[in-house]
Amino acid sequence: MSTLHDHAHIGGQQLRPESLMMSYGYTPAWSEGAIKPPIFQTSTFVFKNAEEGKAFFELAYGLRQQGPDEEMGLIYSRLNNPSLEILEHRLCLWDGAEEAASFASGMAAISTTLLALLQPGDVVLHSEPVYGGSDFFLKNVLRKFGIEAVGFRPTDTPAQMAARAAAIAPGRLAMIFVETPANPTNHLVDLEACAALARQYSTDEKPVRLVVDNTFLGPVFQHPLKHGADVVLYSATKFLGGHSDLIAGAALASKPLMKEIKAMRTFMGTMCDPNTGWMLMRSLETLKLRMERAAQSAQLIANWLRTHPLVERTYYLTHLEHCPAQQDIYQRHCLSPGSMISFDIKGGEAEAFRFLNALKLIKLAVSLGGTESLAEHPGTMTHSDITLEEQREMGITPQMIRLSIGVEDPQDLMLDLSQAFEAVGMVKERELEMA
Ligand SMILES: *Cc1c(COP(=O)(O)O)cnc(C)c1O
Repeated sequence: MSTLHDHAHIGGQQLRPESLMMSYGYTPAWSEGAIKPPIFQTSTFVFKNAEEGKAFFELAYGLRQQGPDEEMGLIYSRLNNPSLEILEHRLCLWDGAEEAASFASGMAAISTTLLALLQPGDVVLHSEPVYGGSDFFLKNVLRKFGIEAVGFRPTDTPAQMAARAAAIAPGRLAMIFVETPANPTNHLVDLEACAALARQYSTDEKPVRLVVDNTFLGPVFQHPLKHGADVVLYSATKFLGGHSDLIAGAALASKPLMKEIKAMRTFMGTMCDPNTGWMLMRSLETLKLRMERAAQSAQLIANWLRTHPLVERTYYLTHLEHCPAQQDIYQRHCLSPGSMISFDIKGGEAEAFRFLNALKLIKLAVSLGGTESLAEHPGTMTHSDITLEEQREMGITPQMIRLSIGVEDPQDLMLDLSQAFEAVGMVKERELEMA
């Protein structure tokens, strides 16, 4: 039988993830020669005999150690399913992870991982802003279990971050949770500095884990495990799925950590379903193509926006000349600026709304990372549960617009943006005339 290693090498040479997404972890002979794995739309699996069923359960429940040549068998689709196992093997390749788990949503991946790795009395130090669902989970759900969340700003210097960690009661810090780039400001957090802090506060009895939500740039343009992260999380709804047609999530880490996370997934039932897993595998085949094309277009569009007379400022990862510290993190962590652009339109909320209402090709919707370009107003949509005061502190302005650039022709996208600016400009002129 061929091994995963055989699938990934030619003559000892490791193949790149994009070359492996069509075949890795699957052998056509398993399924009548079908070049694609079928969707294993099944809840349960038949054991060859009672002894085999017993052996599988012993491993699944950790009743004994796995033998050297023993493979974990299939039991029930809440624990494992071939559609998910093949997907999980493929997900590992992009981040260079030992093991992966797929989930029903990004929030399922985040909540299950945090519940698996935290205990009552623990403190989580986390970047701010984070995704609204993560923010609620950290501040409201974990509190019910006696777990406290302490925020830090991406603008904090390493010294300020160290001071925040030092202010936590000794022995209570258990996790540093980071989202970088931050949404919607594209502010970067220094993962290497966070990893050093996690190591500094780790003890044998209580390791401090660095957990990174890599949804915005990963898994093609940023690899947190290489910068000291212990766990990488994804909303696979975004770039991994990439077609705005499914909800899913993923977690990646070392084998021992994934064992804890997968055990929690089994008992919470937050796994991905086989059909969604199959859709994700189809999406992974074009992941790099989609992300590279969208990022190329986004660079053109961001540079054009920056010179537009109705744009006050852009928030984009190649527009960091004014901030050497951010530029330094960008150079260490990021392989591309990606396809998320925010910008401040001249004026306020009214101008932002007129602009959004005038868009034709670009759709007015939250979410991101799909083949179609989307635009939204963070202040009143994705980040509306944050007070105005806090929004200001986080750098979210009333005139901020967030764009997720898709795979359309960039000239057509600029044509659309251009006519939306004209619509704002025309209304402005008319108001002046009437005044
Ligand atoms: C969308 C998103 C999530 C939540 O993912 P779902 O798939 O919607 O549950 C988490 N983190 C980030 C950064 C996201 O953009």
